[in-house]
Amino acid sequence: MLNPVELPRCPQTQTTTSNTDTDRMAQPEWTCIFQMKTKDLKQGDTWRLEFDEIIVPDCPNPGWEQYIRNTCARFKCTKCGRGWPSNRVMVVFHMRLTSGHGVVKVRPFCQNCKQCSDAPMEKPKITSENIDILLENLVEKIRIKCYHEDLGKGHRPFISLDVKSPHEPAHCEACIAGICTRN
Ligand SMILES: [Zn+2]
Ligand SMILES: [Zn+2]
Repeated sequence: MLNPVELPRCPQTQTTTSNTDTDRMAQPEWTCIFQMKTKDLKQGDTWRLEFDEIIVPDCPNPGWEQYIRNTCARFKCTKCGRGWPSNRVMVVFHMRLTSGHGVVKVRPFCQNCKQCSDAPMEKPKITSENIDILLENLVEKIRIKCYHEDLGKGHRPFISLDVKSPHEPAHCEACIAGICTRN
């Protein structure tokens, strides 16, 4: 059951529910950072990260904990090629620990181009640095929610981008879902 030898590898792990090129490219990096950050959690416990585009914010399955965080990312329209940055990119995590096996499901929320009609929803491209910050904050949340540790410190803020144009609620999947950051 316990196989610590598996931890340090950086494989394209296990189950995915999505299969675009962007996903396949992004996942090893997320998995790698995730394995590094979770290896110091309780000795013998294993943790796995899965991308899951169908998890519903505020409705984790029974027994699952939720963590929602804002980050920044760039998007690129696959229809016209236009790119844009956003500091309001929501990432939803659902996590559960059972008998030493932890699973985290992650869903970054998409945006689409405001200039194209019927523009497809595009996945965010998040920098390594911000993935690192996101996952570091996630692991703190795991310590609190799954291991009931009292850490008593705040989260590490993301590195923001220079965004000139206003946020576009009509083109933001998280706004449409009603979970986008509101300042
Ligand atoms: Zn476009
Ligand atoms: Zn939004």
